[in-house]
Amino acid sequence: MPVTRIDIPLDKLAAPPLSEEEIQRKLAHERARLASMMGLDSGPVRHFRRPVERPFGAEERGKVTILFGGLTWKHERVIQAVFKGCGYNCDILPVPNVSAFQIGKEYGNNGQCNPTYFTVGNLVQYLQFLHSQGLSKDEICDNYVFFTAGSCGPCRFGMYEAEYRLALQNAGFERFRVLLFQQNDGVKAASGEAGLKFTVDFGLGMFNALNLGDIMNEMIYRIRPYEAEKGKTDKVFAEAMDTLCTVLKDRKPFEDHEDLPEWLAKKCRESKGAKWEVWVNSLLKVREQLYGNPYKDALQAAHDQIGTIAVDRLKVKPVVKIIGEFWAQITEGDGNFHMFEFLEREGAQVLVEPIGTWVMYMMYQVKARNLAKRHLTDKYKNVQPWELHKLALNELNFKKKQWMIGIGERIYARQYQRVVEALGHIAHELVDQKELAELANPFYNEFARGGEGHLEVAKNVYYTKNRLCHMVLALKPFGCMPSSQSDGVQSGVANHFKEMIFLPIETSGEGEINAHSRVQMALGEAKVKARMEFEQVLEKTGKRLGDIKDYVADHPELCNLYYPVPHVDGVTGIAANFVLHVSDLMDRKTRIKRLPAPKREVQERELAIA
Ligand code: SF4
Repeated sequence: MPVTRIDIPLDKLAAPPLSEEEIQRKLAHERARLASMMGLDSGPVRHFRRPVERPFGAEERGKVTILFGGLTWKHERVIQAVFKGCGYNCDILPVPNVSAFQIGKEYGNNGQCNPTYFTVGNLVQYLQFLHSQGLSKDEICDNYVFFTAGSCGPCRFGMYEAEYRLALQNAGFERFRVLLFQQNDGVKAASGEAGLKFTVDFGLGMFNALNLGDIMNEMIYRIRPYEAEKGKTDKVFAEAMDTLCTVLKDRKPFEDHEDLPEWLAKKCRESKGAKWEVWVNSLLKVREQLYGNPYKDALQAAHDQIGTIAVDRLKVKPVVKIIGEFWAQITEGDGNFHMFEFLEREGAQVLVEPIGTWVMYMMYQVKARNLAKRHLTDKYKNVQPWELHKLALNELNFKKKQWMIGIGERIYARQYQRVVEALGHIAHELVDQKELAELANPFYNEFARGGEGHLEVAKNVYYTKNRLCHMVLALKPFGCMPSSQSDGVQSGVANHFKEMIFLPIETSGEGEINAHSRVQMALGEAKVKARMEFEQVLEKTGKRLGDIKDYVADHPELCNLYYPVPHVDGVTGIAANFVLHVSDLMDRKTRIKRLPAPKREVQERELAIA
């Protein structure tokens, strides 16, 4: 059938073209309509301005209490001790709970991530508690300040400060002060508040506190599942923390004009305030803070206290490595459904992450970025090959930054390791950041910023590949952009490592039962993996478990916490490694028994010393 075409003249089909004047008029009309709809037509545009904080003056130090929180109780106790030792009043906020989360939702912005609700609500909840105890709001705002870390990161962490202020304002504490420690600026960052000064003693005290908190935290989770006497670890660690806190609080800060031999002290007194004297005093303070006898003695005392815990290394337990968002993987409360406590109750050994990894990550990032934009930041551009002077200066500028950060990295890692060694070598050393970046790079670019960046993926690969855990549990807060990104990538990562047991859990104010049940299921697999590993190792030794147990019972030194059980490559569980070692000892003993008398005595002596 032929198709009939009806020709409509173009001028009838299209609307007549609008004049420029008409377009502008329509645009203005639509803009006004939208502004009125959003309630933005009631006056001049008001841009957000950061509120001017009331200063925290030095004269207030004696009466104002600094509040802080959000870490583990081990970190918080040592940090509090340093604050107190530097002359500040300081209180720790309670561990954030579900009601704090709800308060955070009530007073904060919508659409925040889980840690924001918990931490912001926790502060408001505590201030409300103080109010309920009879303190007026003015008294609270005048006598308390809150100290927290700030950032300008691409995730919501950059908005924490604004969130605190908004929630405080909505809850009626608008005059309350929030002091910020800008994490990107490090110890240099004066908060701008003369009441809180970042002196050498304060900075190094915090440095020691952070290391102690990290290491004690890892140790307690490493020891408790194997304790021979139930409850002993918690009791002993509380005492050991007291020992460490006492020295951090009570140690006298080094002063050259008091603590050097009199003839030198006199010279320092005469030149007090001179540039050289300030330098000398600062350097000696550093030495005293890191290597001084009070610190070394406290470490030794804590080491001895912890050494009273006897362990049974034959308990077969799956090792669960915790990764995830910074706060979710560190808090010990409702913020992650009390996950560590739950895992231990279910028979697992929890491998936690130190804050030190995050510090090292930030230093590594500065170096890696400096390297990546190397020639973009050159002082002299378009330098010709014969302009050696300019080439050398460009190179020097670049290297200077790399060296400075490199030295910082080495010092941090070395000091961390020193404390690990002083406390019996139970915690692990910090993982090399370059290695982590290389492991992550095929899956997640190391320059993708926000949250933990590439670390979640890198740790998952590192701990699985090196067989340092039976299962990886990622704690991802509800609404966390960077963790969601990582979790998306993790499914690709899991495809590359067939032996990987990886479980991401979204933490929020609700859904604890659901989360626990998912963890239970994955943990079931990890338990089977740990048990199989143990059985295989036992079979390889050719011994009966009963014989191993008898040998251990005859050698009580094997129940000593500090007894060094070698780690065999590819063997994850503590029990499996222990069986291999005990079997080795039994074999050596048998071999020695067969030797002629003089040789036997020598070897027996050597074995006893070993
Ligand atoms: S990393 Fe995630 S949970 Fe943490 S502050 Fe950023 S967005 Fe929030």
